[in-house]
Amino acid sequence: MNLYTQALHAGYTPKNGEARVLPIQQSTTFVYEKTKDVQALFDLEAPGFFYSRLANPTVDAVEKKIAALEGGVAAMFTSSGQAAAFSIILTLAKAGDHIVSSSSIYGGTFNLFAVTLKRMGIEVSFVNQDASTEEIKAAFRPNTKALFAETIANPGMNVLDIERFATIAHSFEVPLVVDNTFATPFLCRPIDFGADIVMHSTTKYMDGHAVQVGGVVVDSGKFDFAKSSRFEEFNTPDPSYHGLIYTQAFANMAFIVKARVQIMRDIGLCMTAQAAFYLNQGLETLGLRMERHCENALKVAKFLKQHSKVSAVRFCALEDSPYYDLAKKYLNAKGSGVISFEVVGGREGGIRFIDNLKLCSLQVHVADIRTCVLHPASSTHRQLSDEQLQQANITAGLVRLSVGLEDLNDIIADLDKALSFV
Ligand SMILES: *Cc1c(COP(=O)(O)O)cnc(C)c1O
Repeated sequence: MNLYTQALHAGYTPKNGEARVLPIQQSTTFVYEKTKDVQALFDLEAPGFFYSRLANPTVDAVEKKIAALEGGVAAMFTSSGQAAAFSIILTLAKAGDHIVSSSSIYGGTFNLFAVTLKRMGIEVSFVNQDASTEEIKAAFRPNTKALFAETIANPGMNVLDIERFATIAHSFEVPLVVDNTFATPFLCRPIDFGADIVMHSTTKYMDGHAVQVGGVVVDSGKFDFAKSSRFEEFNTPDPSYHGLIYTQAFANMAFIVKARVQIMRDIGLCMTAQAAFYLNQGLETLGLRMERHCENALKVAKFLKQHSKVSAVRFCALEDSPYYDLAKKYLNAKGSGVISFEVVGGREGGIRFIDNLKLCSLQVHVADIRTCVLHPASSTHRQLSDEQLQQANITAGLVRLSVGLEDLNDIIADLDKALSFV
């Protein structure tokens, strides 16, 4: 089925007389007739729902939809995008292990990697994703467990060369993890280009309406955890399941099963049925919304580009963008809906511009149906030092504009007016 059809139908097929719309199964628990039924569930010998921290039918249906959209074998929802990144790392790595990550990533992920994982004994080396293959390879160590990057970096706006990163990761027998939040499967399916694990902050375009926070982890099923020499935990008995061995019991689902039955079970960063229901409503129109986000954003980027009060525009769908070739290869030459640009006058100029907007709202969010702006250096990335800001490809005067679905002329009129105050 085509993506537009999957966005409406994958994951839930009502039977005779059942609800047309995915029902919200607002229940923490599920009933069984015999103890042997429950034993089989606990020993992971039979599928089924027993407690909504581990799985819930509403959540499960929408997970199946996203797995289909991304071309993966299975997906797991989490309570937020942050929780998705955290659960991926915890499934792959433990204290004493190491991760290689692009430095051009979302500020929250950067902090999770640089500060919190470090406190837990997992070290992360940051690399410039546009650096040479040799430089990136030099960051790998014998205990490295993953390579991490974003399809379109938030807010640096660089486009990842997914195939190159996949080749690098696989040469060290580790999976490539891609945060595909900004691209969505309608612009890019990283698994088609060699990514092994894909994640999203579903809070952004997938939900799209700014109503609920959530995240998702998608397993491609393609990384061979049995063959790699780096994943002992996947290939030796787990004492918490009577010595079960993930790669033997679950073959190409080993990663996503381990993420759920070990990390979700113990850490509990689950999504609620209600949140999954809202998310599903967003997913139904994701493809249509992305078309308009991309179209509006490209026209806004062209408007900004020729404006005398704007000194630089970063948007990969502009033909003179250094990332245009990568956008053609991976994003169907689209740029998604987020533009980073610099207003003349640095930090002061950026602030004057934002404070004079009327329609576009100042909000710590992106990928909303309503146009919104943010000044990363004073908000999402304020914990970063100047040097770290530079590494993350952010300048003090950078403005991040998330172009919504309003009428294009209304958006441009508001931007033009506010720029006149700079
Ligand atoms: C927002 C965001 C996150 C974090 O997601 P939350 O849902 O806010 O926890 C991760 N990655 C990217 C690219 C994001 O934009």
